[in-house]
Amino acid sequence: MTLPFDVAAVRADFPILETEIDGHPLVYLDSGATSQKPRAVLDAERGFLERANAAVHRGAHTLAAEATELFEDARVTVAEFVGAEPEQLVWTSGATAGLNLVAGSLGYAGRLREGDEIVVTEAEHHANLIPWQELAARTGARLRHIPVLDDGTLDMRAAAELIGERTKVVAFPHVSNVLGIVNPVAKLVTLARGAGALTVLDACQSAPHLALDLPASGVDLAVFSGHKVYGPYGIGALWG
Ligand code: PMP
Repeated sequence: MTLPFDVAAVRADFPILETEIDGHPLVYLDSGATSQKPRAVLDAERGFLERANAAVHRGAHTLAAEATELFEDARVTVAEFVGAEPEQLVWTSGATAGLNLVAGSLGYAGRLREGDEIVVTEAEHHANLIPWQELAARTGARLRHIPVLDDGTLDMRAAAELIGERTKVVAFPHVSNVLGIVNPVAKLVTLARGAGALTVLDACQSAPHLALDLPASGVDLAVFSGHKVYGPYGIGALWG
Protein backbone atom coordinates (compact mmCIF):
# COMPACT_ATOMS: atom_id res chain seq x y z
CA MET A 1 0.00 0.00 0.00
CA THR A 2 1.31 3.48 -0.87
CA LEU A 3 0.73 6.06 1.84
CA PRO A 4 0.51 9.79 1.10
CA PHE A 5 3.51 10.53 3.35
CA ASP A 6 6.97 9.16 4.01
CA VAL A 7 6.36 6.67 6.82
CA ALA A 8 10.06 6.08 7.49
CA ALA A 9 10.69 9.83 7.83
CA VAL A 10 7.76 10.28 10.21
CA ARG A 11 8.81 7.25 12.29
CA ALA A 12 12.34 8.67 12.46
CA ASP A 13 10.92 11.76 14.20
CA PHE A 14 9.78 9.64 17.17
CA PRO A 15 12.67 8.03 19.08
CA ILE A 16 10.32 5.74 21.01
CA LEU A 17 9.45 3.97 17.74
CA GLU A 18 12.99 2.59 17.69
CA THR A 19 11.89 0.41 20.63
CA GLU A 20 11.20 -3.25 19.96
CA ILE A 21 8.45 -5.12 21.75
CA ASP A 22 8.57 -8.92 21.68
CA GLY A 23 11.12 -8.66 18.88
CA HIS A 24 8.89 -6.44 16.71
CA PRO A 25 9.31 -2.73 15.95
CA LEU A 26 6.85 -0.77 18.08
CA VAL A 27 3.59 0.10 16.37
CA TYR A 28 1.71 2.63 18.51
CA LEU A 29 -2.02 3.00 17.95
CA ASP A 30 -3.07 4.77 21.15
CA SER A 31 -2.42 8.39 20.16
CA GLY A 32 -5.99 9.32 21.07
CA ALA A 33 -5.11 8.55 24.68
CA THR A 34 -1.70 10.22 24.51
CA SER A 35 0.60 10.95 21.60
CA GLN A 36 4.24 9.96 21.42
CA LYS A 37 6.71 12.85 21.47
CA PRO A 38 8.75 13.81 18.42
CA ARG A 39 12.42 14.68 18.64
CA ALA A 40 11.68 18.44 18.34
CA VAL A 41 9.61 18.34 21.54
CA LEU A 42 12.12 16.22 23.43
CA ASP A 43 14.96 18.54 22.32
CA ALA A 44 13.00 21.67 23.30
CA GLU A 45 12.20 20.30 26.76
CA ARG A 46 15.75 19.18 27.37
CA GLY A 47 17.12 22.48 26.01
CA PHE A 48 14.89 24.46 28.35
CA LEU A 49 15.93 22.43 31.38
CA GLU A 50 19.61 22.61 30.46
CA ARG A 51 19.80 26.29 29.56
CA ALA A 52 16.84 28.32 30.80
CA ASN A 53 15.13 26.64 33.74
CA ALA A 54 14.19 29.12 36.48
CA ALA A 55 11.10 30.35 38.33
CA VAL A 56 8.70 31.92 35.82
CA HIS A 57 7.19 35.33 36.71
CA ARG A 58 8.89 35.25 40.09
CA GLY A 59 12.55 36.13 39.75
CA ALA A 60 14.53 39.20 38.69
CA HIS A 61 17.70 37.42 37.57
CA THR A 62 18.72 36.72 33.95
CA LEU A 63 17.61 33.10 33.89
CA ALA A 64 14.21 33.93 35.40
CA ALA A 65 13.70 36.56 32.69
CA GLU A 66 14.67 34.04 30.01
CA ALA A 67 12.35 31.36 31.42
CA THR A 68 9.49 33.86 31.66
CA GLU A 69 10.01 34.95 28.06
CA LEU A 70 9.94 31.35 26.83
CA PHE A 71 6.84 30.63 28.94
CA GLU A 72 5.01 33.60 27.41
CA ASP A 73 6.32 32.81 23.90
CA ALA A 74 4.68 29.39 24.29
CA ARG A 75 1.37 31.08 25.09
CA VAL A 76 1.67 33.05 21.81
CA THR A 77 2.50 29.87 19.85
CA VAL A 78 -0.39 27.90 21.35
CA ALA A 79 -2.82 30.82 20.92
CA GLU A 80 -1.86 31.07 17.23
CA PHE A 81 -2.40 27.31 16.91
CA VAL A 82 -6.09 27.82 17.78
CA GLY A 83 -6.52 31.17 16.00
CA ALA A 84 -6.67 33.08 19.29
CA GLU A 85 -4.95 35.91 21.17
CA PRO A 86 -2.46 35.02 23.92
CA GLU A 87 -4.40 36.90 26.61
CA GLN A 88 -7.38 34.62 25.95
CA LEU A 89 -5.40 31.54 26.98
CA VAL A 90 -5.08 30.21 30.53
CA TRP A 91 -2.53 27.46 31.17
CA THR A 92 -3.94 24.48 33.00
CA SER A 93 -2.50 21.09 33.90
CA GLY A 94 -4.66 19.45 31.21
CA ALA A 95 -8.14 19.35 29.76
CA THR A 96 -9.64 17.71 32.86
CA ALA A 97 -8.32 20.57 34.99
CA GLY A 98 -9.65 23.11 32.47
CA LEU A 99 -13.15 21.66 32.57
CA ASN A 100 -13.10 21.46 36.36
CA LEU A 101 -11.97 25.09 36.47
CA VAL A 102 -14.88 26.17 34.27
CA ALA A 103 -17.52 24.12 36.09
CA GLY A 104 -16.13 25.05 39.52
CA SER A 105 -15.98 28.74 38.63
CA LEU A 106 -19.56 28.79 37.37
CA GLY A 107 -20.63 27.20 40.65
CA TYR A 108 -18.53 29.61 42.71
CA ALA A 109 -19.95 32.58 40.81
CA GLY A 110 -23.49 31.40 41.54
CA ARG A 111 -24.34 31.14 37.85
CA LEU A 112 -26.52 28.03 38.31
CA ARG A 113 -29.42 27.29 40.61
CA GLU A 114 -32.16 24.74 41.11
CA GLY A 115 -34.26 24.32 37.99
CA ASP A 116 -31.40 25.28 35.63
CA GLU A 117 -30.11 22.72 33.17
CA ILE A 118 -26.67 21.69 31.95
CA VAL A 119 -26.62 19.87 28.61
CA VAL A 120 -23.87 17.43 27.61
CA THR A 121 -23.88 14.55 25.11
CA GLU A 122 -24.17 10.82 25.66
CA ALA A 123 -20.63 10.42 24.31
CA GLU A 124 -18.57 12.37 26.84
CA HIS A 125 -15.13 11.60 28.18
CA HIS A 126 -15.38 11.52 32.00
CA ALA A 127 -13.49 14.82 32.03
CA ASN A 128 -16.51 16.54 30.47
CA LEU A 129 -19.07 14.67 32.54
CA ILE A 130 -18.04 14.46 36.18
CA PRO A 131 -17.40 18.22 36.69
CA TRP A 132 -20.95 18.87 35.40
CA GLN A 133 -22.43 16.05 37.52
CA GLU A 134 -20.78 17.63 40.55
CA LEU A 135 -21.92 21.13 39.63
CA ALA A 136 -25.48 19.81 39.19
CA ALA A 137 -25.35 18.03 42.55
CA ARG A 138 -24.03 21.16 44.26
CA THR A 139 -26.51 23.60 42.73
CA GLY A 140 -29.63 21.51 42.21
CA ALA A 141 -29.35 21.99 38.45
CA ARG A 142 -30.36 19.11 36.18
CA LEU A 143 -27.89 17.37 33.87
CA ARG A 144 -29.35 16.39 30.50
CA HIS A 145 -27.81 14.36 27.69
CA ILE A 146 -28.14 14.80 23.93
CA PRO A 147 -28.64 11.24 22.63
CA VAL A 148 -26.29 9.61 20.14
CA LEU A 149 -27.95 7.94 17.13
CA ASP A 150 -27.06 4.45 15.88
CA ASP A 151 -24.59 5.91 13.35
CA GLY A 152 -22.70 7.73 16.14
CA THR A 153 -23.92 11.23 15.25
CA LEU A 154 -25.77 13.42 17.71
CA ASP A 155 -29.56 13.45 17.60
CA MET A 156 -29.84 17.12 16.67
CA ARG A 157 -33.63 17.01 16.69
CA ALA A 158 -33.49 15.93 20.32
CA ALA A 159 -30.82 18.60 20.96
CA ALA A 160 -33.16 21.30 19.65
CA GLU A 161 -35.82 20.10 22.10
CA LEU A 162 -33.45 19.70 25.04
CA ILE A 163 -31.76 23.10 24.76
CA GLY A 164 -34.19 25.73 25.95
CA GLU A 165 -34.77 28.56 28.36
CA ARG A 166 -33.67 26.49 31.38
CA THR A 167 -30.32 25.65 29.74
CA LYS A 168 -27.39 27.53 31.24
CA VAL A 169 -24.48 25.51 29.83
CA VAL A 170 -24.02 23.32 26.75
CA ALA A 171 -20.75 21.36 27.01
CA PHE A 172 -19.74 18.97 24.25
CA PRO A 173 -16.77 17.35 22.54
CA HIS A 174 -15.64 18.67 19.17
CA VAL A 175 -14.49 15.15 18.21
CA SER A 176 -15.63 12.19 20.27
CA ASN A 177 -12.80 10.15 21.82
CA VAL A 178 -15.11 7.14 21.78
CA LEU A 179 -16.48 7.33 18.23
CA GLY A 180 -14.26 9.73 16.27
CA ILE A 181 -17.38 11.59 15.15
CA VAL A 182 -16.94 15.32 14.44
CA ASN A 183 -19.83 17.09 16.12
CA PRO A 184 -21.67 20.02 14.47
CA VAL A 185 -20.20 22.86 16.54
CA ALA A 186 -21.93 25.70 14.66
CA LYS A 187 -25.38 24.12 15.00
CA LEU A 188 -24.92 23.47 18.72
CA VAL A 189 -23.65 27.02 19.23
CA THR A 190 -26.73 28.40 17.43
CA LEU A 191 -29.05 26.37 19.67
CA ALA A 192 -27.17 27.37 22.83
CA ARG A 193 -27.01 31.06 21.89
CA GLY A 194 -30.73 31.02 21.11
CA ALA A 195 -31.27 29.83 24.68
CA GLY A 196 -28.76 32.30 26.16
CA ALA A 197 -26.57 29.40 27.36
CA LEU A 198 -22.79 29.29 27.63
CA THR A 199 -20.98 26.83 25.32
CA VAL A 200 -17.94 24.82 26.46
CA LEU A 201 -16.02 22.87 23.83
CA ASP A 202 -13.86 19.86 24.67
CA ALA A 203 -11.32 20.20 21.85
CA CYS A 204 -8.99 17.45 23.13
CA GLN A 205 -9.43 15.19 20.13
CA SER A 206 -9.84 17.89 17.48
CA ALA A 207 -6.70 19.86 18.42
CA PRO A 208 -4.42 17.07 17.08
CA HIS A 209 -6.40 16.55 13.85
CA LEU A 210 -8.31 19.64 12.71
CA ALA A 211 -7.27 23.23 12.03
CA LEU A 212 -8.90 25.09 14.91
CA ASP A 213 -10.15 28.65 14.88
CA LEU A 214 -11.74 28.90 18.32
CA PRO A 215 -12.88 32.54 18.08
CA ALA A 216 -14.59 31.81 14.73
CA SER A 217 -16.23 28.65 16.10
CA GLY A 218 -18.61 30.74 18.21
CA VAL A 219 -18.05 28.76 21.42
CA ASP A 220 -17.52 30.71 24.63
CA LEU A 221 -14.87 28.48 26.19
CA ALA A 222 -12.71 25.59 25.01
CA VAL A 223 -10.15 23.24 26.51
CA PHE A 224 -7.44 21.00 25.09
CA SER A 225 -4.35 19.26 26.40
CA GLY A 226 -0.67 19.20 25.49
CA HIS A 227 -0.04 15.49 25.76
CA LYS A 228 -2.40 14.66 22.89
CA VAL A 229 -0.73 17.14 20.50
CA TYR A 230 2.84 15.82 20.86
CA GLY A 231 3.52 17.94 23.91
CA PRO A 232 4.37 16.86 27.45
CA TYR A 233 2.00 15.70 30.15
CA GLY A 234 0.94 18.23 32.73
CA ILE A 235 0.03 21.11 30.44
CA GLY A 236 -3.21 22.13 28.80
CA ALA A 237 -5.07 25.26 27.90
CA LEU A 238 -8.39 26.87 28.62
CA TRP A 239 -9.43 29.38 25.98
CA GLY A 240 -12.12 31.96 26.52
N1 PMP B 1 -11.66 14.96 26.76
C1 PMP B 1 -11.41 14.05 25.81
C2 PMP B 1 -12.34 13.94 24.64
C3 PMP B 1 -10.30 13.21 25.92
O1 PMP B 1 -10.06 12.31 24.96
C4 PMP B 1 -9.45 13.35 27.05
C5 PMP B 1 -8.24 12.47 27.24
N2 PMP B 1 -8.44 11.11 26.92
C6 PMP B 1 -9.75 14.31 28.02
C7 PMP B 1 -10.86 15.11 27.84
C8 PMP B 1 -8.88 14.52 29.23
O2 PMP B 1 -7.71 15.21 28.88
P1 PMP B 1 -6.48 15.40 29.91
O3 PMP B 1 -5.74 14.11 29.89
O4 PMP B 1 -5.68 16.52 29.32
O5 PMP B 1 -7.04 15.75 31.23
